[in-house]
Amino acid sequence: MDIAAALAIAGQAIGLVKDLREIDKGLDTAEYKAKMAELYSSLADVKMALSDAQMALREKDQEIHELRAKFELRTKLVEVDGFRYETHESGKPKGVPFCPRCEQNSSRLYRLTRFKGMIIYKCPECNAEYKPVHAYPWTETDPR
Ligand SMILES: [Zn+2]
Repeated sequence: MDIAAALAIAGQAIGLVKDLREIDKGLDTAEYKAKMAELYSSLADVKMALSDAQMALREKDQEIHELRAKFELRTKLVEVDGFRYETHESGKPKGVPFCPRCEQNSSRLYRLTRFKGMIIYKCPECNAEYKPVHAYPWTETDPR
């Protein structure tokens, strides 16, 4: 049974107990009512726990998806003069490199951006400045 189905069943059970509590007014056994309240409370806990688990699983799925994408990107990177670039089909470096500082510190890839049109490139994340930075063409006109 998956978590979504478990959540649905827990929800139904809570509704059922609620109904039973209504019907039971005539019987009025204190102990019985206390048990029902307990059951209701524990079922609510089950639902909350399953809901948390579902959220955690979704976060993990998202993380796995992001890690896969990052890994795929990394396998395609090429290093030139200490900077890592994406590559064209031919394996030649493409565009502007990623910040080496951020890659080392946090394993995240942030592409450098040109600082006010000058020859300095800056990291949008850590603000480190680099020069000179070689920028390669974004499109490959001649694959040879
Ligand atoms: Zn950086």
